[in-house]
Amino acid sequence: MTQPTIYQNYINGAFEASQQHLEVFNPANQTLLSRVPASSADDVERALDAARGAQKSWAATPAVERAAFLHRLANKLRDNVARLARTITEEQGKISGLAEVEVNFTADYLDYMAEWGRRIEGEIIQSDRPKESIFLFRKPLGVVAGILPWNFPFFLIARKMAPALVTGNTIVIKPSEETPNNCFEFARLLDEVGLPKGVFNVVSGTGAEAGNALTASQQVDMISFTGSVETGSRIMANAANNITKLNLELGGKAPAIVLDDADLDLAVKAIRSSRIINTGQVCNCAERVYVQRGVADEFIARIAKAMESTRYGDPLADSDVEMGPMINRAGLDKVAQMVETARGNGAELITGGNVADLGAGFHYQPTVLAGCRQDMAIMRQEIFGPVLPIQIIDTLDEAIALANDCEYGLTSSIYTRSLNNAMQACRELDFGETYINRENFEAMQGFHAGVRKSGIGGADGKHGLYEYTHSHVVYLEG
Ligand code: NAD
Repeated sequence: MTQPTIYQNYINGAFEASQQHLEVFNPANQTLLSRVPASSADDVERALDAARGAQKSWAATPAVERAAFLHRLANKLRDNVARLARTITEEQGKISGLAEVEVNFTADYLDYMAEWGRRIEGEIIQSDRPKESIFLFRKPLGVVAGILPWNFPFFLIARKMAPALVTGNTIVIKPSEETPNNCFEFARLLDEVGLPKGVFNVVSGTGAEAGNALTASQQVDMISFTGSVETGSRIMANAANNITKLNLELGGKAPAIVLDDADLDLAVKAIRSSRIINTGQVCNCAERVYVQRGVADEFIARIAKAMESTRYGDPLADSDVEMGPMINRAGLDKVAQMVETARGNGAELITGGNVADLGAGFHYQPTVLAGCRQDMAIMRQEIFGPVLPIQIIDTLDEAIALANDCEYGLTSSIYTRSLNNAMQACRELDFGETYINRENFEAMQGFHAGVRKSGIGGADGKHGLYEYTHSHVVYLEG
């Protein structure tokens, strides 16, 4: 049996031994993978001291030089795709192919954000006074605290650190206690590219201790958080005490509208993918379907067949599986409970509906529920598992009203051949993103942001980059 890896916090350019540890397990078979620091508030504060100490000279470094470190790191990731992908699969459970996509996408993302090094621009604003010039500069905020979830643990490091660093901030990252290993592997590679000490730091630990200390600290100028609404709300309370800038990417309950004139091949393929990819644990993927009555029977029969055909299991034991385990026991129990409750309230089980008996590991069967209604929890609350609830609608107006009637507002999608229908959906769907006749997967040059409880601010593209800056307006007379 292989020994668990011992990881150490990365603070001020050095890996540090730690007194307290958390254990990390493989969700597919529950084997022990690693021991990582259970950081204390003191550990967190030292990481913040390091980030604070490094920030002024980092901000004074030309942006193109800051960007060069990101390009070098991107190349290191590309040289290590298979190894890094294995670390992700082991601790998070996503299949190897998707883990490799995550590593490659992360490298591309680092390059993309690095390209902004030469493009960060201010503005010259017309004045009302004859001899005055008004300049708007963009400046770094200072020290960023990045708090990560477990579902795309590797990419989300880059989504926070790349725009933070290229704009002149320094950062302290706290990975999820479920998936810290890949973050320490990221730090090991970053350590090889010669980044100045203290610019990038990693402290692992629990949310209650390390996460709380990080978000409560007065040393933090911006909190960039991705995770659940409940934690986002706690973090907001901490931020309120210090008036700390917040960027929150929270949950989703993406509606998919399938109209009578939809290309059903496309709709079935894309919506199935939404529920299978990363075992349905993706904030932006379709989580509820509103299908128009004329195609409802055919859509339900076809999506059920497609879901049933999914091969699932331990991705490291069987390289052909399309779907791995769920992240942990709590996630599995929540999904099982939601399905049971929906059935108890009258939903019709079309396929799946059970915890999969594969020995060890947290596996759930790909599941389709028809006959769902808007008042059921399964149509309103985040499932985060391979379960698709379906409700029949008669008109697009009705579907849009039901889609909007939700506390989340991250992504949405519609399948239709009609330009008018598509344009009506664009106008009336009240979400941060809408995908028309395609799977829900954002581009790095877009802007990933939600409304309502899905978050505050956003990530990616120019708008995401500028979230990590503040404006400084200068008035010059003469
Ligand atoms: P979570 O909120 O349980 O944990 C996220 C992080 O917050 C972890 O690192 C955790 O340790 C930390 N944390 C917990 N309590 C804390 C506290 N009191 N103070 C500070 N930090 C604390 O979320 P999760 O289960 O890891 O991730 C799943 C959730 O993330 C889902 O709701 C999903 O929709 C959401 N998510 C959203 C996006 C997006 O882009 N909007 C992307 C990925 C995941």
